[in-house]
Amino acid sequence: MDLSPEAAKRLDTTDELAAFRDRFVPITDASVIAYLDGNSLGRPLRATAERLQALVAEEWGSRLIRSWEERWLALPEEIGDELGRVALGAAPGQTIVADSTSVCLYKTLRAAVALRPGRDEIVTDTANFPTDRFLVESVAAELGLTLRWIETDPLTGVRPEDVTAATRRRTAAVVLSHVDYRSAAIADLAAITRETHDRGGLVVWDLCHSAGVLPVELDAAGADFAVGCTYKFLNAGPGAPAFLYVNARHHEAFGQPITGWMGAADTFAMAPRYEPAPGIRRALSGTPPVLGMVGVQEGVALLAEAGIDRVRAKAVALGRWVLALADAWLVPLGFTIASPRDDDRRGGHVTLRHPDAERLSRVLIENGVLIDFRRPDGIRIGLSPLTTGFAEVRQAMARVRELAG
Ligand SMILES: *Cc1c(COP(=O)(O)O)cnc(C)c1O
Repeated sequence: MDLSPEAAKRLDTTDELAAFRDRFVPITDASVIAYLDGNSLGRPLRATAERLQALVAEEWGSRLIRSWEERWLALPEEIGDELGRVALGAAPGQTIVADSTSVCLYKTLRAAVALRPGRDEIVTDTANFPTDRFLVESVAAELGLTLRWIETDPLTGVRPEDVTAATRRRTAAVVLSHVDYRSAAIADLAAITRETHDRGGLVVWDLCHSAGVLPVELDAAGADFAVGCTYKFLNAGPGAPAFLYVNARHHEAFGQPITGWMGAADTFAMAPRYEPAPGIRRALSGTPPVLGMVGVQEGVALLAEAGIDRVRAKAVALGRWVLALADAWLVPLGFTIASPRDDDRRGGHVTLRHPDAERLSRVLIENGVLIDFRRPDGIRIGLSPLTTGFAEVRQAMARVRELAG
């Protein structure tokens, strides 16, 4: 592969999504050479800044409390439907925007276990994201269930055969991440869902590292539940609310533990007793975080314009570019590749390992290459197709070579 600056420039000029970069707030800090952490915190859209201003001035400032009825109360489902259509392969009425991923995960897992009475095991994997592992442990402790761990090789991610081996008649629910947060390995969502269903269990998918960067086909896979965040590849902003998907076939029996008034059948009836709303709305708990939802709405709208398939194609091309640069420049310096080389198995980032990664990461950040460090020795290079450029990546990799050499 041609790794010259001209080659990088060619990749940028032929990039169909290059113009989307201008839709984001420019980075005015001149010391930043490359932003390769969009998989942790996506960059802000200009439209979000404008919408927030307008919301404060008009919807909130002038329409005041009337805005709840006029616009805000419907937002969790409205934005959820659009997110489902654009990124999750979910028909309307199954996705809502609410809470944080951690809270959505708790609610969903509790509901999943309640749908499988008599079964007393939950399955997850040792490589899962900390919040997932911690919540699975606390739900197991709370309900007196046994937790079965799958030992995952981060490079392959969880494989269907691992799930087959770990699940059985006692399995109530399996909790897994679709894309491994360290290696970016993609799990086979459809096959794992099928395997678990064959044993009578349900699956809760965490889509934090997939939503907005690769097409997810929840309905087609017959998925049960999914949760995920919006502040990574969907660029919704720090702490923006999460999303929660419940397949329509589970709606009627779906009972989650945080039974607040917003998920009740008639919120403003001030009823003496909780009666769940029909449909996905019963997954809500309290008042929707309207300010944060503006960022989700704009992030999803931009993704709709770009198209998830074009975003995925660019994520693959950026991943290949990083791998080629790393093989030529960094592997000779003692780096190893800790992400799948197979394009079909790799999500939206590439992780490199280096014995001195912790110190090197600090030096890189001080030198304007914003990556992140993942214990014990991983340097994660996040590739956010709507904002990341090929020349930007090349410059960053050249800087890594200089500083590690
Ligand atoms: C980022 C991330 C989370 C974050 O959960 P929050 O509740 O938003 O803090 C959860 N799971 C995975 C896999 C993540 O990558």
